[in-house]
Amino acid sequence: MQEALFYSKTTNGQVQCELCPWNCILSDGQTGNCKVRSNQNGVLLTEVYNKVAALGSDPIEKKPLYHFYPGKNILSVGEVGCNLHCSFCQNHRISQCKASEFIGFHNISAKKIVKEALKTWNNIGIAYTYNEPFTFYEFLLETAQLAHSKGLKNVVVSNGYINEKPLQKLLPVIDAFNIDLKAFSNDFYKKYTKGKLQPVLDTLQQIAKSPAHLEITTLVIPGLNDDTSEFKSMVNWIASELGESVPLHLSRYYPQYKLNAPATPIDTLIELYNLAKTQLQHVYLGNVSDAQRSATYCANCNAELISRNHYNTEISALDTEGKCKKCGTFASVIM
Ligand code: SF4
Repeated sequence: MQEALFYSKTTNGQVQCELCPWNCILSDGQTGNCKVRSNQNGVLLTEVYNKVAALGSDPIEKKPLYHFYPGKNILSVGEVGCNLHCSFCQNHRISQCKASEFIGFHNISAKKIVKEALKTWNNIGIAYTYNEPFTFYEFLLETAQLAHSKGLKNVVVSNGYINEKPLQKLLPVIDAFNIDLKAFSNDFYKKYTKGKLQPVLDTLQQIAKSPAHLEITTLVIPGLNDDTSEFKSMVNWIASELGESVPLHLSRYYPQYKLNAPATPIDTLIELYNLAKTQLQHVYLGNVSDAQRSATYCANCNAELISRNHYNTEISALDTEGKCKKCGTFASVIM
């Protein structure tokens, strides 16, 4: 256990965690909504500091990031805990369990993870992923700072549920984010995630203003977030507030955890893909086999720049400077 960052003490022994929008007020012995930060004798502790639950090398496309070092691998690390509670969570075994209940932690130092990343083949850096990385903020920050000092890239795959101050502290050492935008309705967030929409929008705007690369993922769930007028509002908001070049991944839902609605029909995904393409330059379908809608096209001449077949990536029409070989337009791809 390690003392947490971003909290304040009250006069009666309670502490208030200021890491995420829950701002949990905890009495002695109580654990926060994320199940991994607790008040122990008036001190807020992170119970998961360097307790790694999953570590492995993944293609960067698996995060998913399609415009950030395509074709490279990234060492991916996750712990346990999450500050949202989605009924459709795809990783609920590690995200929704208490730190005290998880069996199989590996105590690994930041130094060791960085060392591993440096010797992994075709690897560009470290991705903080699998569970919600902001709930292991202290270890994430320490590892990311060390990784940066060694020339590695840092990637965060997150639900975007974090307060402004901790996010601002993290931004200088994070090179790319994939943030879930689970729906464009506060009712959806309230009912199916137990959180709120606005803090996620705030996070997206802060990242878009920073030098970090940003991509967004929406898991499309039939009947819950596939309403076309709500979806149009979401796409309009992304284009106007974040930029039309921000890539949007529309991922197919399959029944998981507490939700047993049937898998998303392919026609629904294609309809939303076509709608999104009217506003955004780069839209992708995920969790489906669809080479046409997984490829990256030039925003100017529509040449196919990067082809993808599952996790096989072929950079077909981009030159070494990241320009379209056909028309010379710079593609929004970091190589
Ligand atoms: S990080 Fe955890 S303890 Fe802190 S405010 Fe969020 S849910 Fe509460």
